[in-house]
Amino acid sequence: MHYPHAYERCTANTSTTGPRVTDVIVIGAGLAGLTAARTLSRAGKRVRVLEAGPQVGGRVRSRQLGGFTLDAGYQVLFESYPAARRQLDYGALDLVAVAPSAAIRLGRRVELLGDPRGDAGVIPGLLSARSLTIKDRLVFARLGADVAFGAPHSLLSGFDEPTRDYLKRLGFSDTALRQFFAPFFGGIFLRRDLSTSARLFRYYLRMLLSGPISLPRRGMSVLSEQLAQGSDVTFHARALELAPHERGVSVITSLGELEAAQVIVATDPQSAGLLLGENVSRGSLGSSYLYYASTRRLDTQKRLMLNPVQGRINNAQWLSEVIPERAPDGQHLLTVTVLEGAELEGAELDDDALDLTVRAELKSWYGEGVSSLRTLAVERIGHAQFPQPPGYAAHLPGHATRFSGVLLAGEITSMSGIQGALESGEKAAAILLGDLGAMSRPRGA
Ligand SMILES: Cc1cc2nc3c(=O)[nH]c(=O)nc-3n(C[C@H](O)[C@H](O)[C@H](O)COP(=O)(O)OP(=O)(O)OC[C@H]3O[C@@H](n4cnc5c(N)ncnc54)[C@H](O)[C@@H]3O)c2cc1C
Repeated sequence: MHYPHAYERCTANTSTTGPRVTDVIVIGAGLAGLTAARTLSRAGKRVRVLEAGPQVGGRVRSRQLGGFTLDAGYQVLFESYPAARRQLDYGALDLVAVAPSAAIRLGRRVELLGDPRGDAGVIPGLLSARSLTIKDRLVFARLGADVAFGAPHSLLSGFDEPTRDYLKRLGFSDTALRQFFAPFFGGIFLRRDLSTSARLFRYYLRMLLSGPISLPRRGMSVLSEQLAQGSDVTFHARALELAPHERGVSVITSLGELEAAQVIVATDPQSAGLLLGENVSRGSLGSSYLYYASTRRLDTQKRLMLNPVQGRINNAQWLSEVIPERAPDGQHLLTVTVLEGAELEGAELDDDALDLTVRAELKSWYGEGVSSLRTLAVERIGHAQFPQPPGYAAHLPGHATRFSGVLLAGEITSMSGIQGALESGEKAAAILLGDLGAMSRPRGA
């Protein structure tokens, strides 16, 4: 397919200044694409990023709604992610620490569990909390000490098994698995059945225990905006087709045809599969988020709240208790996470029915106070992460594609999360630059 003069049309449409010579086109302005683009630009390459949507960040984005700042779903930054330490200037992100603890909601009763080094508030209830037995606490202390040693990436190798089997083998009780591990790590891996790789569980536990967990005051999108600074991003530019030739690669886009010596495809896996003509998807885990506003302060709980009993809610957090600026003055903001598995148990619900069901569950926490909640939005994310069962890493696509001059980036080449997305962008850029040090960095380092 060829569009004569389309290049000029494209540049005119996007208010750029005339045809440009581009060394590398990066398709997708998620964390992976932005990291690749910035690394290449810093090395002197002329880079252009094409983004199908209206803003940078992909899955890490935020929006304003009636004075509330809503992230796309509920996600946090583990500051100890090695790639995040390399790529992000934490000082400029205005990060607010989230307590390294959780409030287990048993109806109106709450049990606090967590790391007393970072949340002294959990100490008085630690001994009486029934979700973890004395033996569970001892096993946890040993596990925490065990994952603290060595380089974090070393936790991603060795024997693998489902997290559930691993925890049972260590000696944790069924109550601990059901009341703490399932909802807590369900919120991280978006699966409540603890079927995720135990290697990955150990890696994330290390990240949790070794560094602050935080939320940017102005929304998760500040991570993406910081990575995008100085990059040449064209919005509403969807790549439709790739046509490699002897001098480089033609990229057919919704705005016309562009040329570059090399291309990095940093889209979600489904879109990458369409562009590359090969299946790079490893499945999808979806989740839904309900955002509630209230003028009444129903709870002063800052910690992540976990639902240990069967229901739609997996976890919830009063974000305005952690960051008051996320809500307008005099208002409060609650975010509720519903995992796909919970959605599918029983009938699939439309937004209104899901809202009603979640409200009914919240009623067991807050009684009639729930009627003061105003539903701000219901957001469904079809592809939030990909499933990572034991041995998943052996089946991930690499950066090479069947097209010469075209590389793949995106979390799908590494692991599902911010660390995976950032390191995939670094690696794709390193391959183009011939940077052996960065190229040979292990996954998770
Ligand atoms: C609800 C939710 C909760 C999460 N929680 C956490 C968490 O707590 N911790 C954590 O580490 N990770 C978490 N993650 C995962 C993390 O956000 C992702 O792993 C990461 O953002 C993926 O980045 P990416 O660049 O690989 O892909 P994406 O963010 O998907 O970016 C791909 C980009 O490509 C664009 N695009 C697609 N097709 C085209 C095309 N044809 N042309 C041009 N552009 C295109 C898209 O619009 C998008 O901007 C969560 C994700 C979600 C959604």
